[in-house]
Amino acid sequence: MSEIKNIGLITSGGDAPGMNAAIRAVVRTALYYNIEVTGIMRGYEGMINGEFFPMNRKSVSNIIQRGGTILKTARSEEFKTKEGRQKAFDQLQKHKVDSLVAIGGDGTFTGAKIFIKEFGMPILGLPGTIDNDLIGTDFTIGYDTAINTVVDAVDKIRDTAESHDRLFIVEVMGRDSGLIALRSGIGVGAEAIMIPESKTDINALFKRLEKGRKDKASKILIVAEGDDAGGAFEVAEKVKEKFPKYDTRVSILGHIQRGGSPTCMDRVLASRLGVAAVESLMEGRKGEMIGVCNGKIHFTPFKNAIKHISEVNPSLLKIVEILSL
Ligand code: ATP
Repeated sequence: MSEIKNIGLITSGGDAPGMNAAIRAVVRTALYYNIEVTGIMRGYEGMINGEFFPMNRKSVSNIIQRGGTILKTARSEEFKTKEGRQKAFDQLQKHKVDSLVAIGGDGTFTGAKIFIKEFGMPILGLPGTIDNDLIGTDFTIGYDTAINTVVDAVDKIRDTAESHDRLFIVEVMGRDSGLIALRSGIGVGAEAIMIPESKTDINALFKRLEKGRKDKASKILIVAEGDDAGGAFEVAEKVKEKFPKYDTRVSILGHIQRGGSPTCMDRVLASRLGVAAVESLMEGRKGEMIGVCNGKIHFTPFKNAIKHISEVNPSLLKIVEILSL
């Protein structure tokens, strides 16, 4: 018989498509095993402020296809303080919440790790971030949707670029991580990608553009926002200076990458992880992020999951180079 009686559920940090599918899976699985679920609004901020409500089957009806998070999300400075965390713990006790599932990124898991150390509460984490930069899962919830959004947008940009013989520099999300740029860049057949994980050699880029097929009407460069060469506007300035004849344009995709209906891949991933979270709490697990690696559920201690992936798969970078000729 499981000790777990009431699971608190939060989404925290940046929102990601598929978080709702994960919320639904946690709630339905808990109810399946006769465990109560308490929804906590606005992440750790709502935990401190006592924004709690009981969740039932109906609370998660008709949400699997919706982007964003019905529990909303927030960043909480107060939770970074001992006093803030004590207030959060007092609220959890008041509402008889005995365990937590936290859906978020590395900051969320850092907070959870400290909270477990201070109060011993069982917490498991689910990777919910469009960046895919957590160790311990092949993909994070939201990443597949985000790269499909980028591919969709850049396909449209390609149509107009092709018609006008233009070079487009498209900036995608990724302050510290180029994983959105890398996969979407391959998916759209980009001429080059620029990502924070590898130093951008602007002269090598110019050479590639010079060497590129002259009969190719359009060119697409994908730049992650955190690239060391700067954002899309900075790169465009340098390209314009070197190639004044190119009709160079910039497109910054921005927040559309966070929204939208999750792909089936994200819905299935979120559903698997939500079920695993409840069953793992029942088995007495805590302090871990649950992911899927090579098709199997995988557990990673928070302290390891929060280390950022600092290298990208070099074979994917090579693919961009080979295929863009
Ligand atoms: P994303 O990757 O989408 O940005 P995230 O979970 O990394 O998601 P953060 O804003 O970094 O997002 O973290 C979410 C929340 O976790 C913070 O607002 C804060 O309340 C809590 N948190 C982050 N770092 C710490 C810390 N060192 N100690 C306690 N709490 C923390």
